[in-house]
Amino acid sequence: MRQIQLFLVAALAGISLQAQNQAYWQQHVDYTMEVDMDVKSFQYTGIQKLVYTNNSPDVLERVFYHLYFNAFQPGSEMDMRLRSIKDPDKRMIEGDKSRIASLDPSQIGYLHAQSLTQDGKPVTYKEEGTILVVDLAEPIPPGGSSTLEMNFKGQVPEQIRRAGRNSREGVALSMSQWYPKLAEYDFEGWHADPYIAREFHGVWGDFDVKITLDKEYTIGGTGYLQNPQEIGHGYQSPGSKVKTRGKTLTWHFVAPRVHDFVWAADPEYLHDTLEMEDGPVLHFFYKNDPEILENWKKLQEKTAATMEFFSRNIGPYPYEQYSVIQGGDGGMEYAMATLITGGRELGSLVGVMVHEMAHSWFQHVLATNESKHSWMDEGFTSFISSLCMNEIMAQNKDNPFEGSYRGYLALVNSGLEKPQTTHADRYATNFAYSIAAYSKGAIFLSQLGYVIGQDKLMETIKKYYEDFQFKHPVPNDFIRTAEKVSGMRLGWYLTDWTQTTNTIDYGIREVSSHEGKTKVSLERIGDMPMPLDILVVGVDGSQHTYYIPLRMMYGEKENPYPGIARTVLEDWPWAYPDYGFTLDMPLEEIQAIVIDPSQLMADVNAEDNHYQSEP
Ligand SMILES: [Zn+2]
Repeated sequence: MRQIQLFLVAALAGISLQAQNQAYWQQHVDYTMEVDMDVKSFQYTGIQKLVYTNNSPDVLERVFYHLYFNAFQPGSEMDMRLRSIKDPDKRMIEGDKSRIASLDPSQIGYLHAQSLTQDGKPVTYKEEGTILVVDLAEPIPPGGSSTLEMNFKGQVPEQIRRAGRNSREGVALSMSQWYPKLAEYDFEGWHADPYIAREFHGVWGDFDVKITLDKEYTIGGTGYLQNPQEIGHGYQSPGSKVKTRGKTLTWHFVAPRVHDFVWAADPEYLHDTLEMEDGPVLHFFYKNDPEILENWKKLQEKTAATMEFFSRNIGPYPYEQYSVIQGGDGGMEYAMATLITGGRELGSLVGVMVHEMAHSWFQHVLATNESKHSWMDEGFTSFISSLCMNEIMAQNKDNPFEGSYRGYLALVNSGLEKPQTTHADRYATNFAYSIAAYSKGAIFLSQLGYVIGQDKLMETIKKYYEDFQFKHPVPNDFIRTAEKVSGMRLGWYLTDWTQTTNTIDYGIREVSSHEGKTKVSLERIGDMPMPLDILVVGVDGSQHTYYIPLRMMYGEKENPYPGIARTVLEDWPWAYPDYGFTLDMPLEEIQAIVIDPSQLMADVNAEDNHYQSEP
C-alpha cells in the first residue's frame, strides 16, 4: 500500500511539472511561392520561400515537409494500405484493384525538391516516401527564425483521392496537398505522418502564391486575388473589361492566417459571385454542364444561408471570401474553400456544401490535429451540419442526429470499435474510423447537450471558438470550456466517451406498488455512467419528469422540458449499480415510464428503457 502511495506521489509530481512546461505556443510559417503549371503534361515547377519561426522552447536541428503527391505511385504506403485494408475506399479501387497500382509513369503523382537552402546555405535532405527529412545547416533556436528556399518539381496524378487531374466529372486540376508543406511541430513533437489518404495537421501562417498557367483556365481557391483587373475570369470589377496578352496568365493570391492552400482550375468553369450583406463574398466555380447548372444556381442562396447559420451559432467567419468549387472526388474542406463533386441531387449538393463549410470553423479556424482527434473536426462538423440542414432545408426532425446514433450502434454491435484516441491512420477498418470520427464524434456533442443542457452546449461551442480560434485546440480545451460554462465537472465524460469503448446502458428493472405509491428500480448495466432524465406519463395523459444527477458532476442542468414539471432526485453515485426512487402516485395511475425521452443519451440497449402499464 505504502509503495503504491509513494509511486502515486512521484507520478503526480511528474504530471504537475509537465503541466508547468506546457504553456501554449505554436509555430509560424510564411510561404511565398511562384508556380508554373503545364496544363498539357500536368507537370509543374515552383520556387518556394518559407520563413519559419520557431516559437517552441526547443532547438530545432531538423524539419520535415509533406510531399503528398508521392503517395500516388505504385508501391507507396497509400497504395499498400489500399491493397491491404479490409474495406478500401471505393473511389480508390477499380474492380477489386488499387487504382494507384495501375498508374504508369506519366499518370503518377510526384513532388520532389530540386534544391534546398537555409538562409542561403545548402542543407542535407532526403525523401522518405511522402516526407522530406531535412537536416538543417544551422539549428533554429527557440524564438529564432530561418528562411528555407526550395525549387521543386511536381506532377499532378490522375485524380484518385482528393487531388488530381481530370476528375470523373472532367475537372482538369484539383490542386490540394500540392506544394511542399512544412510539417507541424507542437507540444507533441513533429507530426510527420506518411500520407495514406487521411487527415491533416498544418502550421499557421500567411501565404503569397503566384500561379502561371494557360490563360483559358479559371482558378478558384484559397486566398484573395491581388490582380483581378489583369486576370478577369469573373474577378474583375463589375462592368469592366479585361484584355490579356500572351498565352498564359499569372494569378497572384494572398491568404492571411491559414494553414493550407488549395486551388482548382478548369477551362470550362463558370464563375458566379454572391456578396453577402455583412458577410464574405461567396464564389462558385462549376463546369458549364447543362445537367448541373440549375442545382448550382440554387446552391448559391443555400450557401449564404449556411454561412449565416454557422456565423450565428459558432462565431463570425473571419475571412472575406469563401469559394465552393467543383472538383475532387466527394467533398473536402480547405482554407476559405471547398472542393465538392457537382453532379448531385440538390439535397446532396447542399448537404456536402454544408458539411465542408462547417469545417471552415472546425478545422480551418479551430485547427485540431485531425489525425489524433478526428472526432473533433469530423464529429463537430457533422453535429453542426445536422443542425444547419434541419433549419435551412426545413427538415424539422425531432432528432437531427438520428443517423449518427444509428451508425454508432452499428459500430458497437460490429465489435470493430476502437477508442477515438486511435490515430486516424491506424484504425483497422475504414468503417470503424468513419463512425468513430463522424457519428460518435457528433454524438459527443449532441449527448453533451443532454448532459449539461442545450443552451449550455451552444454557449460552450461559442466560447470554445472565441478562445481557441487560430490555434490547435486539444480535447481537454473543449471539455474545460464546457466545465467553465456549465459549472459542472465533465472530465469523466471526455475520458469514457473518447478514450475507451465503454458503452452506456441503463434499464428499468422493476416498477412495483408500495403502500399506495410506486417504487421504481433502475440499474446501470453499461460501464459509462450518465445523469438520467425520466419521464412519467399518467393514464390521464399527465406528464412529470424526474432528474437523477450524476454525483461526480457536482451540478445539475436546467429543466430541459420547461413545459413539464420536474423533480430533482438524489444524486446517483456512479459506482452504485442500482438506484431506486418512489413516485407519489399509485401504480394503477401510471401509463408509462421512459428513461431519456430525448433519446440523445446513446444507450446501447433501448429495450429496457421503457415501462408500459398492462392495457
Ligand atoms: Zn468532414
